[in-house]
Amino acid sequence: MIFSFTDFKKSQKSRSPHFFVVGNPIGHSLSPVMHQAALDFHAINAEYHAIDLAQAEFSDFIGWLNRDEFLGCNITIPYKNQFIDVVDNIDSFATEAGVINTIAKSDHKLIGHNTDIHGFISPLLEYTDQIEGGRVIVFGTGGAAKSVKIGLEDLGVEEIIFVSRTPQKSILNSDHVWIKTVSYDQWQSYADETSMFVNTTPLGMSPNIDRSPISDYESELLENKICYDLIYNPIQTKFLQQADDFGAITINGLDMLIMQGNKSFEIWTGKSFPFKEIKRLLVNSLG
Ligand code: NAP
Repeated sequence: MIFSFTDFKKSQKSRSPHFFVVGNPIGHSLSPVMHQAALDFHAINAEYHAIDLAQAEFSDFIGWLNRDEFLGCNITIPYKNQFIDVVDNIDSFATEAGVINTIAKSDHKLIGHNTDIHGFISPLLEYTDQIEGGRVIVFGTGGAAKSVKIGLEDLGVEEIIFVSRTPQKSILNSDHVWIKTVSYDQWQSYADETSMFVNTTPLGMSPNIDRSPISDYESELLENKICYDLIYNPIQTKFLQQADDFGAITINGLDMLIMQGNKSFEIWTGKSFPFKEIKRLLVNSLG
């Protein structure tokens, strides 16, 4: 259920155990579908709500986190940076990213976690042999690209080529991995020695489903590679179709979404998502 924070405080629901996802706007979030299904599956006595938080309510909301009924929350745009100063401790991925998307409670302390990076890594664990020590090409240099960079460092990648519309402006760098940022006219010369391509741009996201970071005539450069699209709506993007046409291994953003949610749920409850059921619900929600 979606609430403004003001309405939530007035509602009966605020007096029973609860988790939140908090952001603005929040209507698009699939987190309530996933987490409520997992809470119900494990018969955990708590509800998961979406809170549309106005900036003016931020400090009031912080006070709410100390209440006994509040068990944990996910954080999404535009608050991912803001909550980092509110928690007592943060995990190592959150430290590297400077961003938290999950708050948990431990001994009355608030702990910030970044589970987006776990979500990105999890579907890749079966391909580590192909990725470790190799080169990866990443389209886009925004917030998700930063999480991808940290995930690739963790997986032992040696080189990352970021592709940007404005490569001269990129601020992505690393102490662990060799990084270069190139334009959309330059990445092709790095493709041969590349094990994986990752799309972190919104190109291909609904409703603009005919778009892709690569042109059709460039698709053969994806032959037999691993191709990962962070977009989950649609599940099969044009980029993944282009990759599929050339025998690539394809990974969609739905797996990342589910795995980041699962990591948050494990931190809060010590239990895992019922994966099949959750995937079925999300596929239904996405139509
Ligand atoms: P963002 O901060 O807006 O960054 C996207 C980047 O893509 C931009 O920095 C830009 O890089 C590039 N870009 C943007 N518009 C473009 C265009 N019209 N043409 C070419 N490049 C363009 O967004 P984000 O938060 O990183 O999210 C990116 C995507 O990842 C979204 O589709 C989001 O839904 C998805 N995502 C999925 C998950 C998941 O769990 N599956 C999690 C997070 C994000 P340059 O300026 O360098 O070109």
